[in-house]
Amino acid sequence: MPDLTQAVQLSDPLRTLEPVPFFACDVCASLGRQREAARKLGDLSTVSDCNIEIRKHPHEVKR
Ligand SMILES: [Zn+2]
Repeated sequence: MPDLTQAVQLSDPLRTLEPVPFFACDVCASLGRQREAARKLGDLSTVSDCNIEIRKHPHEVKR
């Protein structure tokens, strides 16, 4: 079983699905802080809401 660590990650889909907030963006940084505060309180529905907001917040990639 060489892929033991990978299997552990796959067994926790909530963690792998979490988007990383874009901290250069005020909205995303705020949502990221709100998400961590909600997680400490065990408020998983707010954590989930923040994840959705972070994921759908658009950012244009500068070239
Ligand atoms: Zn954003």
